[in-house]
Amino acid sequence: MLKEIRILSEHGKQYVPDLRKQPVSERFRGRPVISEGITAAEIELVAAVCPVNAIDSRNGSIDLGRCTFCNECALVLPGTISFTNDYRIAASRREDLVIRPGMKEAMRLDESAVRKEIRRLFRRSLKLRQVSAGGDNSCEMELAASGNVNFDMGRYGIEFVASPRHADGIVITGPVTENMSEALEICYQAVPSPKVIFLVGTDAISGGLFTGSPSLKREFIDSHTVDLYVPGNPAHPLTFINGVMDLLGL
Ligand code: SF4
Repeated sequence: MLKEIRILSEHGKQYVPDLRKQPVSERFRGRPVISEGITAAEIELVAAVCPVNAIDSRNGSIDLGRCTFCNECALVLPGTISFTNDYRIAASRREDLVIRPGMKEAMRLDESAVRKEIRRLFRRSLKLRQVSAGGDNSCEMELAASGNVNFDMGRYGIEFVASPRHADGIVITGPVTENMSEALEICYQAVPSPKVIFLVGTDAISGGLFTGSPSLKREFIDSHTVDLYVPGNPAHPLTFINGVMDLLGL
């Protein structure tokens, strides 16, 4: 018994007490900052090295829905482009994922874009079915971590469930391959209405590195209303949890 108590004492508290303010490594790449003074020549330079066309060659903005957070642009233009370790980068509108030169303020979810029924119905309990639509298991692992003893999103009633019939919505990872497109639609139709759709990770939001591949079939994404976009490659559990908490108004 004493041995167990000693082990517990040495382990300390494993859960994250405040998911809003949990510090992460300085090396974590979250919200980018682009200098307001970035020149046309510099934009051309970084747009050419970006592997996923996340940098707008007209104005130098970075689309977090496309960005793989590879850091190449920051290496090419140190001091002009940098990545902060701010992990609160989820948004309820696709266009809010675009970071323009000179933007330094933290990203916050636009309250006016949140469907009223989401907070009224799911604020105290949100059950989600995860669908890996051609994912590589990276975002999937981070989502699994969101419910572990450290992050414990279950403390807010947010949990993954096995059946779409027990769920309030679906969480999609992966670029949505042709092979998974029908299964994704069937899963979504099995969720009782009203329901939510979350896209997690660069691949799900834009197709990521697989954009333009003939193996993708993304009509589902284009034909349904998405309630939450969670960028990252893969997305961090704190990005996902904070995004869902913002959506629910917690
Ligand atoms: S960090 Fe993002 S924007 Fe920069 S080069 Fe990589 S993918 Fe492109």
